[in-house]
Order: sequence, then structure tokens, then C-alpha cells
Amino acid sequence: MNRTSAFFVAGVDDLVDVIVRATVRHEFTTYLIGSRLPSSLEPGAARETKRLLHADISSALDRKWFGRRVDFDDPEIRILVDVTHREATVWSAPAWLVGRYRKFDRELPQSRWPCRRCRGSGCERCLGTGKTYVESVEEAIGGTALLACEGVATRFHAVGREDVDARMLGTGRPFVLEIVEPLRRAADLDPIQRVVTETWAGRVGVSGLRWGSAHDAEAVKARECEKSYRVVIAAPRPLCSEDAARIADLTSAELKQETPNRVLHRRGDVRRRRRVFRAEARSIRGGLIEARFRVQSGTYVKELVSGDSGRTTPSVSALLGTACRVLLLDVVAVHDDITALPHDS
Ligand SMILES: [Zn+2]
Repeated sequence: MNRTSAFFVAGVDDLVDVIVRATVRHEFTTYLIGSRLPSSLEPGAARETKRLLHADISSALDRKWFGRRVDFDDPEIRILVDVTHREATVWSAPAWLVGRYRKFDRELPQSRWPCRRCRGSGCERCLGTGKTYVESVEEAIGGTALLACEGVATRFHAVGREDVDARMLGTGRPFVLEIVEPLRRAADLDPIQRVVTETWAGRVGVSGLRWGSAHDAEAVKARECEKSYRVVIAAPRPLCSEDAARIADLTSAELKQETPNRVLHRRGDVRRRRRVFRAEARSIRGGLIEARFRVQSGTYVKELVSGDSGRTTPSVSALLGTACRVLLLDVVAVHDDITALPHDS
């Protein structure tokens, strides 16, 4: 094999050292090498040179990196070797943390919520934080995972989201946390779970943590699940057990919902049909009603109660002939388990 055209071949060991040094802090088992050659090489020669160079580098790395392998489709890290400058740049693919979260705090949003006035740069209104809320579920879980994985940022993906003032109870809501540019990607999950649980005791809980893939994030985003809610309802007049019985008549109702007034500023005005699979209610102390609704994915439950000035029909308000409103809202189940009994929660 004539390798004389590969003028730098004598320097392969050198390049391998550059690669090893550039990746010494990364935890990975799969990788892919790319190279940048001097632009003076004509395309045909460059292709052949690359082929030889990559073969030489790979066999040298095979000896140094026992247990690691080249992956052309989905490598954990990509290494670009600049042959002229003897430099290597490393990109680390995201790590994906899969689990379920519960939220017990009625002032905690699911994800980071940039300040509306400054859009994140920091202003008087947000006291320089750039955020509407100081903390979020994303940061509760993401902050700990980011430290464990030595990443640079996180993105939070979940099967829908609850309102800020709603608790997320039951077995929790499925999420995937994307950790951007991690150095570690197989961090022990028990400490992450423990730190979140202890640091955020009474506010956020996580369970069922495992390492996943980009497919998990796609699946979570595409997932549409029925949800069950517990709602405490108040009205201008005291509500009684006859009112509760009427609310139960919403079982199997089909709702017509226009985009709620409260979210019109950030979502398009759409009319949708949503199914109430089950409605139960009982009167409780103080002239209030505690209701439970199992509804189709994408149902606005506060508006199912209030009627939203006629934008949602039927509604609890229309049914009872008085302006009802939600005092407390909890998500008690995200029915993502298709083996669960249908409409039973
Ligand atoms: Zn601000």
C-alpha cells in the first residue's frame, strides 16, 4: 500500500495523543472520528488520505480504548481532528434521563419560565433573575442531574404540563430530561434521586429514573394521555349535594372548548372537542364541592368548571346556574399506562 501521499502519516501517533487528551474527561463507549485536512489537497487525494488516516487512527485507538467502539449512526461523542493544527474538537451527544415527577408546590412551574418583560436578560420586575418564577421542576431535577453529568444545560420534555398552581400527585408525570454536552453519561441514578428528594422535600419528587435515548424524548412529546383531576369548586352561593349529583351527569359529556381566555395571549384561538370520561362529585364543608374528572388529553379543566364566559360548553357553571370557579386543582393521574384498567381511577 502506497502511503507516501499521506504526508502526515508519520504523525498519526501524535494525532492519537491529541484525541486522547481532548477526550480524557469524557465518559463514553461509542465514538466517531472525523478529520479536517489541509485545503491544498485535491478532493480525490483528500478522500483517500482520510480513509487511510481514519483506519490508522482507529486501529491505534482500538488498542488504547479497550471496550469502546466506533458508531456511525449515533455515537456518544464525535471527534473532529484538525490535521494541520493538530487539534481535536469534541461534541458530546445529549444524555437522556427518563423518569416521573410529582409536584406538591402550588407556586412551582414545570419548566423555566422566562420573565415576560425582559425575556430572560434580567430586569427590575424579575429582580435580575430573568425568570417569572425563581424555581421550577425542571431546575429541581435538572440542576442535580447537570452536576452529576457535568453538562452545560438541560431541556425538559414531559407528557403535557399542569398549571403552575396545580399539584401533580399519584404516580407522577412522565418526563425526559435532556442533558446537553455531558461529560458523564452513566452517572449513578440513586444519588440523583436521593438529592432531588431530600433537597426538594415537600415540593418535588422523582421516581423510576433510568437512562434513555432521544427516542424516549420523542415518545414523551408525542404522547397524549387521559388525565384524572381532583378539583375543589366554589360558587357565590353555597353548593350542596344536589349540585354534586348534577356535576356527575357530566360523565361521558362531549365538551366544546375554545382556547381559554387566560392563555389566548400565547396560543391560537382554536375550537376543540374533548371528552369527559368520568365525573364524580360530593359536597364538602364550607359549601364547597370536591369533584373528580377523568378527561381526554388536552382538556382545560378550570374552564370545564367556570365555563370561561361561554367558551366551554357544557360546564359546571352552566349546569348549576351559578358562576363556579376552581379553588384547588390537583392532577391525580396521568394515564400513560395502557395496561391500566380503562376509565378507572
Ligand atoms: Zn425580567
